[in-house]
Amino acid sequence: MEGQVSSVGDHSGLDGLRSVVRRFGYGTVLVGTLLVLWWGVAGPYSFGYVAIGVQLTSIVVILGMEFLIPHQRTWGNIHKVTRADGIYFLLAAPIDQLQIFLLVTLLAGTAQYHHFIQVFDFWPRDAHVLAQLFLVTMIVDFFKYWYHRWTHEVPWLWRMHSIHHSLDRLEMLRASYFFPVDIFLTVATGTFVLLMVGVDYRIIAFHNVWAGITGLLNHSNADLKCGFFDSFLNSIGHHRAHHSVALPGVRSNYGSFFNFTDRIFGTRYLPEDQSDFGELGLEEDEYDMPDTFLQQLAVPFNWSRIRRAN
Ligand SMILES: [Zn+2]
Ligand SMILES: [Zn+2]
Repeated sequence: MEGQVSSVGDHSGLDGLRSVVRRFGYGTVLVGTLLVLWWGVAGPYSFGYVAIGVQLTSIVVILGMEFLIPHQRTWGNIHKVTRADGIYFLLAAPIDQLQIFLLVTLLAGTAQYHHFIQVFDFWPRDAHVLAQLFLVTMIVDFFKYWYHRWTHEVPWLWRMHSIHHSLDRLEMLRASYFFPVDIFLTVATGTFVLLMVGVDYRIIAFHNVWAGITGLLNHSNADLKCGFFDSFLNSIGHHRAHHSVALPGVRSNYGSFFNFTDRIFGTRYLPEDQSDFGELGLEEDEYDMPDTFLQQLAVPFNWSRIRRAN
């Protein structure tokens, strides 16, 4: 009898934890990582180490939330994880390093190109770090919005981006499931624009790491309620809608972080009911997308075999 009572108590304790995480998990990860990264920029330790610590902790926390409060029980099945999932996930960091090396170290770091790349000189370098981060995020969002929108609307860019949209389940591990050139251009667009307006490298790194964490959250299978964040961020529901086959979301929600640019251009879409976004991915009768990494590398060059109903 005693055992029974305590097991009922444990169960309701876990349910209590679930509802707290569901309600506050999104804001806690978002604001928590922001504050630690801010401390990393201003504090006594190397930002690189702080960033790695924050990224690894976020991965563990988001994975934990996916197990504790799955959005879809049919997603997040460990047996369905493919080799391609693992390769894309592991490729994200070296691709990010490559664009930093090419744009920041080689291009902006070389004296004769520095003035060439920094075409504007009005950046408020002395403003508060968080104010600079806010400005950076707004600017990058606008350009990433257009890059992302073009990957849907320009046919030869869609050949690459369709690989990201071949996902039929969204899980944190699949947040970097992109054709390598596509993810390179996505991140490099932001870095390039920031170098043009003369943003400090520390702020660029701060923004890149934080944007990466929001990408992990937006692709996760955690059933997080974003609440008031939904009104100004391109939060999880927006991105799930963006991946859905039937909803107009696939023609909406191109922004990375804020949803202001989507609002301005009339492409914001968030359904009232966020419990089920229907089938995700590409229309099966229109695409014959391979699922191994190497075959997917050839997709843009093999388009007539991939796109069935042309
Ligand atoms: Zn897309
Ligand atoms: Zn996505």
